[in-house]
Amino acid sequence: MSTQFDAVVIGAGFGGMGAAIQLRRLGYDNLLIVDRESDLGGTWHVNRYPGLAVDIPSATYSYSFEPNPNWSRLFAPGAELKRYATHVADKYDLRRHMRFDTAVTGAVWNEERAHWAVSFDGGDQVTAKYLLAATGFLSQPKTPDIEGIDSFAGKIIHTTAWDDDYDLTGKRAAVIGTGATGVQLIPEVAKKVSELTVYQRTPIWVSPKVDFTVPKAVRRLYAALPFTQRIARLAGTAFLELLMVTGVLHYRQMPLANKLGERLCRRHLARQVPDRELRRKLLPDYSFGCKRPTVSNEYYPTFTKDHVHLETTSISHVDAKGIVTEDGDRRDIDVLLLATGFDLWQVNFPAIEIIGRDGRDLGKWWRDNRFQAYEGITVPRFPNLLSLNSPYSYSGLSYFTTIESQMKHMDRLFTSMKRRGADVFEVTERANDEFLARMTEKVGDSIFALGECGTARSYYFNQHGEAVLLRPTSTVNAFREASRFPVEDYAYA
Ligand code: NAP
Repeated sequence: MSTQFDAVVIGAGFGGMGAAIQLRRLGYDNLLIVDRESDLGGTWHVNRYPGLAVDIPSATYSYSFEPNPNWSRLFAPGAELKRYATHVADKYDLRRHMRFDTAVTGAVWNEERAHWAVSFDGGDQVTAKYLLAATGFLSQPKTPDIEGIDSFAGKIIHTTAWDDDYDLTGKRAAVIGTGATGVQLIPEVAKKVSELTVYQRTPIWVSPKVDFTVPKAVRRLYAALPFTQRIARLAGTAFLELLMVTGVLHYRQMPLANKLGERLCRRHLARQVPDRELRRKLLPDYSFGCKRPTVSNEYYPTFTKDHVHLETTSISHVDAKGIVTEDGDRRDIDVLLLATGFDLWQVNFPAIEIIGRDGRDLGKWWRDNRFQAYEGITVPRFPNLLSLNSPYSYSGLSYFTTIESQMKHMDRLFTSMKRRGADVFEVTERANDEFLARMTEKVGDSIFALGECGTARSYYFNQHGEAVLLRPTSTVNAFREASRFPVEDYAYA
């Protein structure tokens, strides 16, 4: 049985497309990019809820090598991100590699043939020299395990499965969830419904959103002189980097930056919500940065409207007509909107079953040991696997920083492998152990170790209370290591 593909890339979002572009640059053209969805774009294909927008400046939240001069706003609406993804796929000729509505069930390394066997829902199987898992961090929607939710007779919509045909006008609605998604959704829903009750378990830190329409003249300038947009990108990246490094990662050395962030959010809340009791409910009791903060100018004022209610008593159960809280109060509703986020640590990491050398099951190994991956991308005993959504892989605030540093890692790794006339790579145990020890030590300087994060319920922490999602270094460091890591950190064959 010969190997069918150079590589299988799982996921046709920005991560998978970036990896595929890099593989093409490295000379691998026989690619299969599979996605369980019906089209490309990942998050930006799946999410279509009202209010969806990027919350990182768009010039930064895009590939550096494919600037888009047409962003309509500083923070572009979701539909523009989807259009941008389509543009990238077409321009880089990726579509011909893509197969949609194809869910991967598992992948097994075949030691003898030195390739991956990748199985699909329905029983089909393909083989590939390299496997790239680009399934995203936020791709397994979480439906809350609330008693009686299945008995609700009205409409239930999760934000990742928005029903465009359902008209919210005049309805009695409830939203569960006040993360970044809830913050975008709630003001839009409030504009349409007759009653809205928001069930908040944990408040979120919200700072002002400095957003504006990008003037046509500026867009023309970006198109005519792309370096001007690169400057805008650099400014956005530098600002985010400063925020992340000083406010979150180096809390031990610079606690002031974090305090400033918190003060900015407190002042925003105080300015927008005059009612003391409402303000108290909306104010987080955990340190700024423990959980991903967000930006909005509309979120807080929404709660001051007469038809919007903030409920902070825990939900007891749901019945056919509505929601009952622990204190016995009930609200009858027509529609229940779930902005309840994603399951990262139980069903992700990895999103599919991956069996490497000696029968090692990646998910089981991560859970029985610690969550770990060398440079957030490779794992010992998983030859020729790039696990792009691994522990310690998320670097910086814009996901594109992660994508592009991983593209650089691929470049160095594949070039070094080819130079040796090899076609198999595997990270050494030693390199992986050293990286894990280094990251563990660095997390010790961050807000995650030193702040009051106990009540944050943040997905940055795994089930053992370890903050292993984000790479606890600057993105400058991530990029430097991606293009200079010791090539002996890998074994080649
Ligand atoms: P999230 O941050 O995980 O928030 C989920 C919300 O649902 C939380 O408030 C959570 O409360 C609540 N929840 C979950 N289960 C619940 C239950 N059983 N009972 C009551 N409440 C429950 O998810 P998200 O808001 O979808 O955001 C996830 C990430 O997506 C963001 O952090 C961000 O990285 C990304 N995002 C980005 C953008 C963008 O503009 N680029 C927009 C939206 C989202 P607890 O906190 O108490 O668990």
